[in-house]
Amino acid sequence: MGLTDKIYAHLPQRGQDVAASAFGLYRHWLRSGPGYGDLVHGYRDRDSWPLDRFNAYQAEKLKILLGNAADHIPYYRRTWSDKEKAAARAGRLSELPLLSKDPIRSDPQDFARDDVRPLLRYRFLTSGSTGTPISTLWTAREARDARALREARSANWAGTSFSEGRATFSGRIVVPDANSSGPFHRYNRVENQIYFSAFHLSRENADQYVEALWRHGTQWLTGYAMSYYLLARHILDRNLSVPALKAVVTTSEKLTPSMRSVMERAYGCRVFEEYGTVENAVFASECAHQRLHLSPDAGVVEILRPDGRACDPGEAGEVVATGFVRQYQPFIRYRVGDLASWDPQPCACGRSMPVLKEVVGRIEDVVVGPDGRQMVRFHGIFIGQDNVVEGQIIQEALDRIRVKVVPAAAFGPTDAADIERRVRQRLGEVAVIVEAVESIPRSANGKFKAVVSLMKASD
Ligand SMILES: [Zn+2]
Repeated sequence: MGLTDKIYAHLPQRGQDVAASAFGLYRHWLRSGPGYGDLVHGYRDRDSWPLDRFNAYQAEKLKILLGNAADHIPYYRRTWSDKEKAAARAGRLSELPLLSKDPIRSDPQDFARDDVRPLLRYRFLTSGSTGTPISTLWTAREARDARALREARSANWAGTSFSEGRATFSGRIVVPDANSSGPFHRYNRVENQIYFSAFHLSRENADQYVEALWRHGTQWLTGYAMSYYLLARHILDRNLSVPALKAVVTTSEKLTPSMRSVMERAYGCRVFEEYGTVENAVFASECAHQRLHLSPDAGVVEILRPDGRACDPGEAGEVVATGFVRQYQPFIRYRVGDLASWDPQPCACGRSMPVLKEVVGRIEDVVVGPDGRQMVRFHGIFIGQDNVVEGQIIQEALDRIRVKVVPAAAFGPTDAADIERRVRQRLGEVAVIVEAVESIPRSANGKFKAVVSLMKASD
């Protein structure tokens, strides 16, 4: 736990609201500061481009990105052959090797350009959808670009905007006390944003979540699909009244048709899926016709067979992404860890952006607390755990959690204690067993599940 998190945890609730607003002010500047408007307009202008124009745009971007990687990024300079470097300088992406998470995890700086020194650098941590913690480095402009992309392609397509009040579910510890009796959110005045705690959701607490939406005049919801789905079930179950909302834009977990219909009934508005990664290697968003369009100006996405050849339309394969948003620490032919397929049918919305038919492999098991609260994205406990190569959470009973860890050489008792503390912070007093293992067993598609529940679902 970082120093700021420690300080935050000890503040009273009002202090945490002020901290949330201060954090919000910083984020607001970081993401919506100078140049933001131009970036948004850029994405909006390209919205109606024909595919050949996108292809030309990608070719131009690739040449610059790959050339810089070959010459100015230590990892690529060291590991690519001369032939691969020549291909990179010519913009020929498909001749370059695939990139797994391991080398990034062990040395994130190795992937950053050594010829430029950004005035300010930001580190965002992700646990990754497969439980491998990754540290990403950003410049302020890149953070702005990522927000502009979401504004133009997610919020605007859903009929809303980041300038309107929103609520967010994320992996952040918003309410540090696992046994808190509420409120289960903190409020960022700067962006009129509610940060919901994803770790206190239960039937009993649901009304407090809904009450926050009323109080702050929230216009739209964004964040973890599974959390909004769980809240929606409680809303319908308890017949709670929700204020008029414009849209729900879900992230992180795959949105299933049944999740969508439950949420549309509970929130009384349309639900739009967004597919992206914290690394910002890939970005796709849903149009009014419920099709998931990839943004070709945010990067190149390949869907590959196990032998490395491109999949046919409709054929599921591994998602390999080369993002354009992050140029300072770019991941080239990055194995995202998801499976997807292309949908060759054109979309009635008229956009030429390619459509992803299915993204499979991101539906996660829910962890249930002793008091019945349900949590997703539990592998967030691995964020910032530099000595964890891979981790897996197994819920063996309501009050017993086993954490399997593939430890790095420096892993020690403090790391194990920190993992135990993080589990209890989310679940309260439960037994936590941290077990060091050589590897995490993989499922048929070669991935392991970051969260596994051995409990039988009661519904
Ligand atoms: Zn469409």
